[in-house]
Amino acid sequence: MLSAREIVSRVKSGELKVTEIVESTFDRVSKTEDRLNCYVTILQEEALKRARLLDESASKGKVHGRLFGVPVAVKDNICTKGVRTTCSSRILANFKPVYNATVIERLEREGAVIIGKTNMDEFAMGVSTETSYFGPTRNPWDLTRVPGGSSGGSAAAVAAGEATVALGSDTGGSIRCPASFCSIVGLKPTYGSVSRYGLIAYANSLEQIGPMARDVYDCALLFSVIAGHDPRDSTSVNLKPKDYTVFLREEVKGVKIGVPKEFFGEGTQKVVEETVWKAVHKLEDLGAEYDTCSLPSLEYALAAYYIIAMSEASSNLARYDGLRYGYSEEFTDTDWFTYIAKVRRNGFGPEVRRRIILGTFTLSSGYYNRYYLKALKVRTLIRMDFEKAFKRFDVLAAPTMPTPPFKLGEKIENPLELYMCDIDTVPANLAGLPSISIPCGFTTSGLPVGLQLIAPPFREDLLFRVAYTFEKNTGYVKEEPEVI
Ligand code: GLN
Repeated sequence: MLSAREIVSRVKSGELKVTEIVESTFDRVSKTEDRLNCYVTILQEEALKRARLLDESASKGKVHGRLFGVPVAVKDNICTKGVRTTCSSRILANFKPVYNATVIERLEREGAVIIGKTNMDEFAMGVSTETSYFGPTRNPWDLTRVPGGSSGGSAAAVAAGEATVALGSDTGGSIRCPASFCSIVGLKPTYGSVSRYGLIAYANSLEQIGPMARDVYDCALLFSVIAGHDPRDSTSVNLKPKDYTVFLREEVKGVKIGVPKEFFGEGTQKVVEETVWKAVHKLEDLGAEYDTCSLPSLEYALAAYYIIAMSEASSNLARYDGLRYGYSEEFTDTDWFTYIAKVRRNGFGPEVRRRIILGTFTLSSGYYNRYYLKALKVRTLIRMDFEKAFKRFDVLAAPTMPTPPFKLGEKIENPLELYMCDIDTVPANLAGLPSISIPCGFTTSGLPVGLQLIAPPFREDLLFRVAYTFEKNTGYVKEEPEVI
């Protein structure tokens, strides 16, 4: 499988045509997609048309973009003009946005080719891609297991070669969890570094769009393209665009790594703990220093996260009324409230409905102070704990997920068990910090384990450098799933 970096250089040298690359990607899709179900919408005709246009401009010597000819998959909660964007929900199953998200404009400006829209948990609520209206995606490493979520379609597509790189979104782990479960690289950027314009909101104060790739270089490249100020997103930070690939040096000498004990609590499987510690020791061998530490307020992170996320979701999802777009019902002889209630009951799946109800409760008068406000206070304490830790350490290392990928259907009946899977990923969202998941090994039965690295705000450069050094000195990135 070629990397984005290789594709761009081979197209530039005239060695390969974009059409050939895109055709071979669809060839792969035709071989594995019926087993994996990575895509909600496949854009074969559109992608081939664009490939021909790019080849035409290349033949005239115009090969400019940083992603020229690179096949990209896009999570189905990111708006694509004229192409349906469903959030894997029945309520948006026929929704075609009239505008592109900023990240889509940026991809296209750099010559990327969008292959399709990827499957996800409905409205990004989940860790397994099982709550999708379009059926679950399967893990390319073991088809009986989940790919992680909610960006499970993006991760599985990249791991299986149904795309070269992908965009996901991460509210509480949705890029890092499937990256870990599918043995790829996924970055949750610093809050405010990537525009959310055109990202269909789940919980605005927590989420970011981010890159997913098979190696650290491609991840840094894709991040360089999508990051940067956007006046259409008021939370977007006005920082100069950077080329993050220049930070990719094999050099961790003197980097101080903190290993917080809270990330190895109850529920962490032994194999995960051992594999992550092995990775920390590997980094030590390569010149880094490490020490253990403690962030005591992390004990409350998961509870605070779910209160904040559900509160924001209940407010964000209030707009789906079946009147202007999306799923609708026949309006019979009734009142508007009954009509809207019917649309929402039939249009949303059970997990989304549960969260809207709980989020409405935590925001209602009398409970607001007791739950929502308290969660915000806990959030501040968590941020302060991280600030303190970063006075001592350059980066923090932890497991991405407490367990390897689990079986399809294993946890779906028990929401609490699913929520617990997010224990190690939500802290970075609550504090707005950049966090990357990289492959760091496999269990004896061949299931992937991910290493999570967390850095201070806007220090993605450091994450990439440590991740790159680890990748170059281990072999995990070269492993490919057989998809059988
Ligand atoms: N699993 C978490 C949730 O369900 C995170 C999802 C996400 O990051 N979008 O809320």
